[in-house]
Amino acid sequence: QAKRHGRGLVWLAQLPGSGSPERRAALTQDLQGALERGEIGVHYQEQFGPDGEPCGVEALARWTSPRWGSVTPTEFIPLCEDDDLIVPLGTWVLREAVTQLAHWRAAGLPYARVAVNVSPVQFLRPDFERVVRAALDDSGLPPACLELELGEAFVASHQSVITQRLHALRGLGVRVVLDDFGTGGSGLAALMQVPLDGLKIDRQFLREDTSAPLREGRGVTASIAMAHALGLDVVLEGVETSAHLALARRAGCGRTQGFLQGRPRPAEEIGAHPGVSR
Ligand code: C2E
Ligand code: MG
Ligand code: MG
Ligand code: MG
Repeated sequence: QAKRHGRGLVWLAQLPGSGSPERRAALTQDLQGALERGEIGVHYQEQFGPDGEPCGVEALARWTSPRWGSVTPTEFIPLCEDDDLIVPLGTWVLREAVTQLAHWRAAGLPYARVAVNVSPVQFLRPDFERVVRAALDDSGLPPACLELELGEAFVASHQSVITQRLHALRGLGVRVVLDDFGTGGSGLAALMQVPLDGLKIDRQFLREDTSAPLREGRGVTASIAMAHALGLDVVLEGVETSAHLALARRAGCGRTQGFLQGRPRPAEEIGAHPGVSR
């Protein structure tokens, strides 16, 4: 990957290959201080209700490194988690997200909530509840406007500690949803025992499902029905085609999110440039 800006050309050409231990080490090194240098940002992806009306956003961290260019969160978040950098980064994203939503709501935009991804490392810290409360207090946002997303694998493996903590968090009035549902790990028992408000069906589930013509839509439809039977809200993630959207609507899915309706983008571009097909 050679980019042309002065001697940057040589520099980029010598960077270690993707996934290599050298690259991981170098990225981890460069992540130190990235937040302070202003290299971390937040993009927002809209979520839509059953009639196609925008109803919320998910905050997604972005890292633009002067050396590496833009690095995907799938790569840099795990590195931050290994290094505890995730704690200041996660707090920063959370505070940024609630502040942004408060602005949008004050400006009359129709978003009921902002969803923020929470890393297990962050969630398990004893001061997490305090961090959440302080972010909400400073933003002036009602707690119900904040939706925390916890990964399915984490919820499945730490059920009892999560359950205790969730009672406290939900006591604040914050919503909590299970992210990446369908990627493995959480059985029905976990879904019934952990006090959640909803689940997000992972886009991989949708992709696998609709690529097998004979089973088309069944997994997604069944997941949505199950969630509803358990009193959980559902977001279908990764809605890329009108067939996906039609499937969501047929199954009575409450919210949809995906490239069809809007890509993640900087705050300035939200609201101003509506999604393609509402
Ligand atoms: P996630 O929370 O499941 O977020 C959804 C991901 O799917 C986002 O990728 C989003 O850009 C992508 N996406 C949305 N709609 C579509 C679609 O229609 N098609 C396809 N192919 N992709 C779609 P992104 O932004 O690269 O984030 C990847 C993951 O990184 C997130 O998955 C989340 O687990 C993690 N992440 C991102 N920001 C944060 C953060 O602030 N904190 C933590 N702890 N994790 C984060
Ligand atoms: Mg998420
Ligand atoms: Mg997700
Ligand atoms: Mg996911």
